Amino acid sequence: MASFTVIMLGAVGVGKGTQAKKLVDSLKVPHISTGDILRAEVQAGTELGLKAKEIMDRGDLVSDDIIIDMVRNRLNLNDAGRGAIFDGFPRTIPQAEALGALLKELGLPDPLVVSIELPDDVIIERLSSRRVCINCGATFNLKTDEQLIANHKCPTGTPNVIHRDDDQPDTIKRRLEVYREKTAPLINYYKKQGALRPVSGEGSQDEVFARVLIALDPGLI
Ligand code: AMP
Repeated sequence: MASFTVIMLGAVGVGKGTQAKKLVDSLKVPHISTGDILRAEVQAGTELGLKAKEIMDRGDLVSDDIIIDMVRNRLNLNDAGRGAIFDGFPRTIPQAEALGALLKELGLPDPLVVSIELPDDVIIERLSSRRVCINCGATFNLKTDEQLIANHKCPTGTPNVIHRDDDQPDTIKRRLEVYREKTAPLINYYKKQGALRPVSGEGSQDEVFARVLIALDPGLI
């Protein structure tokens, strides 16, 4: 069976996580979200979680060393033998370089990079009304999914739908600044490698997913 490495790139709130989860069904490789892994550490109250929470609540980035170690450990699990869909990683050039080396080491293909683009005002509006179940990662929109939130059946059995601390207005602004400064340079980095697949994040989740599939197809067949 073929192997796939896909990176979902884009600012916070463009729908990377939602599109990554949809791709899992098509590609049958796991979704690796460094934000989800960190939130699980925070929930579990580990030493790493306690350190990370403060940084995450400010909207800043956790250190490259910690993140790269986390991803190396995750990629060594059996289910990632045919690759992965990365969401929220890499977020800096050193992380991208480390990922390139890790993929080579593991005999996995060079990544294809779906870069989801959306104007800042749409992002801020979306994140202000985003709600998430911190037990299963399901995301909702407060304005359109009121009923879904009320009826949410979490696979873990205990739904816990919250407004993330880092989805508050001041932190959103900081996260967008950090994206522009540290993560946006990855667009050029992957463009130079011929790996970039830009996609508009406007419209419904299904509309965006149709674009993602079209953007990836030439690289996957
Ligand atoms: P996310 O859910 O991807 O938006 O991540 C939430 C927060 O976790 C970010 O704002 C960062 O503080 C931290 N984080 C997640 N992934 C990374 C990463 N690849 N590098 C550094 N920090 C990260």
